[in-house]
Amino acid sequence: MSDSSSFHIRSSIIRLKPYQTGKTIDKIKALYQLDEVIKLASNENPLGPSTKAIAAAQNALSDLGRYPDPQATNLKQALADHLQVSPSHLTLGNGSDSLLGLIGTLFTESESEVIISQYGFASFFIAAQINQAKVVIVPEQDFHTDLEAMLTAITDKTSLIFIANPNNPTGTWRNEADITNFLEQVPPSVAVVLDEAYYEYMSASDFPNSIALQERFPNLIITRTFSKAYGLAAMRVGYAIANPEITDYLNRIRAPFNLTTPSQAAAMAALDDLAHLQTGLALNKQGMAQWTQALAEMGLDAISATCNFLTVNVKQNGEQLCQRLLEKGIILRPLVPYHLAEYVRISIGTEAENSKAISALTEVLGE
Ligand SMILES: *Cc1c(COP(=O)(O)O)cnc(C)c1O
Repeated sequence: MSDSSSFHIRSSIIRLKPYQTGKTIDKIKALYQLDEVIKLASNENPLGPSTKAIAAAQNALSDLGRYPDPQATNLKQALADHLQVSPSHLTLGNGSDSLLGLIGTLFTESESEVIISQYGFASFFIAAQINQAKVVIVPEQDFHTDLEAMLTAITDKTSLIFIANPNNPTGTWRNEADITNFLEQVPPSVAVVLDEAYYEYMSASDFPNSIALQERFPNLIITRTFSKAYGLAAMRVGYAIANPEITDYLNRIRAPFNLTTPSQAAAMAALDDLAHLQTGLALNKQGMAQWTQALAEMGLDAISATCNFLTVNVKQNGEQLCQRLLEKGIILRPLVPYHLAEYVRISIGTEAENSKAISALTEVLGE
């Protein structure tokens, strides 16, 4: 594509590299004429959503002629009750990804500096760049977000800091003491995003109680999603927890009808089905053990074994390895966009999916 468009395209967007998504099952089936394709590439919940969420979405199909509730009043109230916060702290987004973009818009101008960790989630870079901000990349220590170095990187132009906790693709995270200590030192005028897309998977007792921290630090914005543990990736529901002033601005700049009626209904029902959530978390734990053992047998190491994915050092070109697996009907995620050419990200699937992917990977490694 040309860099010299004749349109008045914002220059930061001409330079923008698109987000690279996982390959879809249908595409790979068609491309390699396969009957079965296993996708372990986008950190989705292999169980999908609660059947109650599916039923609620189906029910909502009877009202497709009307615009959805622009405030998503019922879902927002259900979330407020669930999280023990006031609805005035909540912004709902068409996926949390859309909220990251809105946060970028809210806190940046062309002179602004946005601090992002070296292997930080790709959407952070896009959210900053679309808005013409200058991205300040802070190198990581042993694949962990270096909070101390982030503090050092703050200048009087810094307006926003993005941290994913745990981070995708590394899976590493910082504990309550570290995050608290960090927030105590960030100037109150600098907004800090804690992207907690994998919050539900985190059971460690020293994982930050971010909602309590949000009450203490008005510059803290938390984002979470229904796409991962709740298994509703296709419905595109995410939310931000922030102080009421920031929340008011976010609600002004979001699209007025950003959540469809079936999405609102499905998310509400999903929130209510704790049993399904726990079944998924238990399955994930077993799958994580299955993969950890298999990787050890292959002599491979993962960066960390949290959340619902593993980022593995495959000691060879990861993209080529993924290509050979695609031909066998297994979709994993190469991490070239993160400059991790010898790493591959594997999402935890069902036991049967994991077994087939483990066999295929073992085979390809032995070729
Ligand atoms: C998957 C993911 C998201 C995006 O979730 P959506 O709500 O589906 O947009 C955000 N942040 C991180 C770190 C993720 O891995």
